[in-house]
Amino acid sequence: MGFSVDKEGYYGEFGGAYIPEILHKCVTDLQHCYLEVMQEESFKREYNLLLRDYVGRPSPLYLAGRLSEKIGCKIYLKREDLNHTGAHKINNTIGQILLARRMGKRRIIAETGAGQHGLATATVCALMNMECSIFMGNLDIARQRPNVEKIEMLGAKVVPVYSGSGTLKDATNEAIRYWSCHPSDTYYIIGSTVGPHPYPDMVARFQSVISEEIKWQLKEREGRDYPDYLVACVGGGSNAAGTIYHYLDDERVRIVLAEAGGYGVDSGQTAASIARGKVGILHGSRIYVLQNEDGQIQEAYSISAGLDYPGVGPLHCNLAAQHRSTVLSVNDDEALRAAYELTRLEGIIPALESAHALGALKKLHFQPSDVVVLTVSGRGDKDMDTYLKYTAHLSEEWEKGLI
Ligand SMILES: *Cc1c(COP(=O)(O)O)cnc(C)c1O
Repeated sequence: MGFSVDKEGYYGEFGGAYIPEILHKCVTDLQHCYLEVMQEESFKREYNLLLRDYVGRPSPLYLAGRLSEKIGCKIYLKREDLNHTGAHKINNTIGQILLARRMGKRRIIAETGAGQHGLATATVCALMNMECSIFMGNLDIARQRPNVEKIEMLGAKVVPVYSGSGTLKDATNEAIRYWSCHPSDTYYIIGSTVGPHPYPDMVARFQSVISEEIKWQLKEREGRDYPDYLVACVGGGSNAAGTIYHYLDDERVRIVLAEAGGYGVDSGQTAASIARGKVGILHGSRIYVLQNEDGQIQEAYSISAGLDYPGVGPLHCNLAAQHRSTVLSVNDDEALRAAYELTRLEGIIPALESAHALGALKKLHFQPSDVVVLTVSGRGDKDMDTYLKYTAHLSEEWEKGLI
């Protein structure tokens, strides 16, 4: 079929590598070597061993009984929340740091918003004894204290970014700027399926372990290796890309993705880049971008810092444009209710990002025989401050049967 990337780094009309001249060599070197390195037996052995013994893979595929009963179909949760550092991001940072080492790079940089990618990067840098700088907006530094403290304890430097709104997009700009000044010895670990080619494809491949596992886990449980629905949340798109990777060309599988509606897609306070974005260039890639009438990037808003990005990776732009995926917007309040519901039904406190995927379940109509796999991309520990603001209200709604 052709939902994967072409030689120039395009998914249909999306993607490519729009980079400053100074980064040209860096990026083309990476383009030329990433597939070869990833296919080396010694690389695969080291990567898979770390995924098993360090990350704790395979992550369980858990049949959520009480949630299934309530929604009216069979719902399996892919438990990326149980990974070391609490989310799927570590699958990618382990892969990229092994690649950086093989390329002879000594210094690692990364951007972070909520701090989850910064944490996953600082973690693997401690593991591999590499120098590490994490670019982070000053507003996010204030909002995400616990992750900042962990990153620093791991020995990485947090570089505050004061430009723009002091959030993820500004941190990414600054990381690219730094990389442009130190292209030869620095490796930039991008945290999602965004950025110039080959990053979107490389990150999707590192995350594809998720769907690789879903296949054999479902075969064991259901006697068939495919579900009727796959459901995941989309920020830049990496956990979703990993969840759907091995099913892209399997038309029996419906792909449902949840982007963050914020206060609502028409409220002006949203991160729904597929519903509300227009084609533009952001961070080296041609994608749907939230922008105003003059083409200026519009700030994204979501209660979830990990979904608070004004663009979405090129793979997902193309899937949506080709109608291969169904993209639903899930608003803050819907995500909060879904998080509370999972907590009370299954004893699992999900990350706010993952709660958006759970919120999408309410917008679908299932047959009782449907098999659904939903990826819980991360755990809710980092979001407790936010949850605590709403738990009194949510528990009231719960007692009244409104959730
Ligand atoms: C970063 C993050 C996301 C969003 O990133 P994607 O690349 O879209 O997966 C989702 N969930 C969690 C828990 C995250 O940390």
